[in-house]
Amino acid sequence: MSGHTEVHQEFSAQDKMIDQFLQKVDHKLIVMSGKGGVGKSTVAANLALFLSNQGYRVGLLDVDVHGPSIAGLLGITDLKLNIINNKIQPHRYNDHLEVVSIQGLLDTPDKPLIWRGPVKIGIIRQFLADANWGALDFLIIDSPPGTGDEPLTVAQTITDCQAVIVTTPQEISLADVRKSIQFCKKVNMPILGIIENMSGFICPTCGSTHAIFKSGGGKKTAQDYNLTFLGQLPIDPNIVIAGDAGQGIDTLNSPVNIEMHQIVDHIISNLPKHQGNCNNTIKIAIPVVDGKLSNHFGHCAEFRLITVQDGTIRKQDTLIPPPHAPGVIPNWVADQGCTDIIVGGLGKSALAIFNERGVRVLCGAPSDTPKNLVSLYLSNELQSSNNTCNHEDHHHSCGGH
Ligand code: ADP
Repeated sequence: MSGHTEVHQEFSAQDKMIDQFLQKVDHKLIVMSGKGGVGKSTVAANLALFLSNQGYRVGLLDVDVHGPSIAGLLGITDLKLNIINNKIQPHRYNDHLEVVSIQGLLDTPDKPLIWRGPVKIGIIRQFLADANWGALDFLIIDSPPGTGDEPLTVAQTITDCQAVIVTTPQEISLADVRKSIQFCKKVNMPILGIIENMSGFICPTCGSTHAIFKSGGGKKTAQDYNLTFLGQLPIDPNIVIAGDAGQGIDTLNSPVNIEMHQIVDHIISNLPKHQGNCNNTIKIAIPVVDGKLSNHFGHCAEFRLITVQDGTIRKQDTLIPPPHAPGVIPNWVADQGCTDIIVGGLGKSALAIFNERGVRVLCGAPSDTPKNLVSLYLSNELQSSNNTCNHEDHHHSCGGH
């Protein structure tokens, strides 16, 4: 009986450590695939590299205990992780990227590992509880292909984890992706989106694209399941050459990079609000009419959503709001992941909703283009005037527009 209690206590102590770590991580992503060899690890490594190059603090965790390949893809030869005070020290790849892989704890990295479920579950939990990770904007987990113990442990342990599913275009891979989708549904893990890898070969001589493994299957699967299609990466033989030579993929000037940039932007703009926003990224909503700020916040036809990272405008999206009804538009704005809103006037009830949802409001802005307003806002040249905030309430009492 007492042995039971000890195990239980050890488990809950570990739970606590895992919780403490996960609270320091804004976004948790697991990269999954139905089949092996479709480029899941390559995508995981690229995601980590691109996000860290954009200034996000990223942790990359390789939980593929049977075939860890992240170190090789990053060109980290002889990865060895130190253990200090019983804590695994992640490998610092660059200022913003830390890597933990089972490979760094093995004496003979090439020897295949035969581990049964409970051990695998234990090691994954240990990577979360006992590694000396810093605070992270993103934790990216490279899981083995399929729907076995590793993704299941991740889904059960990291309850706000989201899946990125990688596939190649041909049916044999797509059939397995459907299993990954079903798995995510079963364990209630949201799917951030699908990436189609090895989607066509861009001929370096003539520049035309050849669909070697077909193309478009990933997009179609995403559509069939009403999921986000994040993008397609072409085949680049240099990726194989660099990977095999252990040189790492970060220095490659690859056509994959262009697509990867777009995928990362897509991922950043699709992150759900509840996970909070990365420290250095803000999303500013502005109601617009004829390309300039609209004074009628609750009744304007479109909103511009401007993503600013490290003080630079990265992205502008146009969003069409749902029909006006009390409280609908402010909640909808907050649901889009906005951290800030710039308006001419605003009703008290809308202001209260924004306050409650943690969206900063700048009220009383002049009629100008969204870009100019954002520049002024970022340089603190826009003054918020609270008196104009009754503006829309007045319209409501007149029956609205
Ligand atoms: P998985 O993690 O799905 O098993 P990997 O990322 O290890 O797949 O990739 C499998 C092989 O395919 C590796 O040799 C890798 O270099 C290669 N590869 C992955 N993506 C591409 C690509 N877009 N173009 C060319 N080769 C690729």
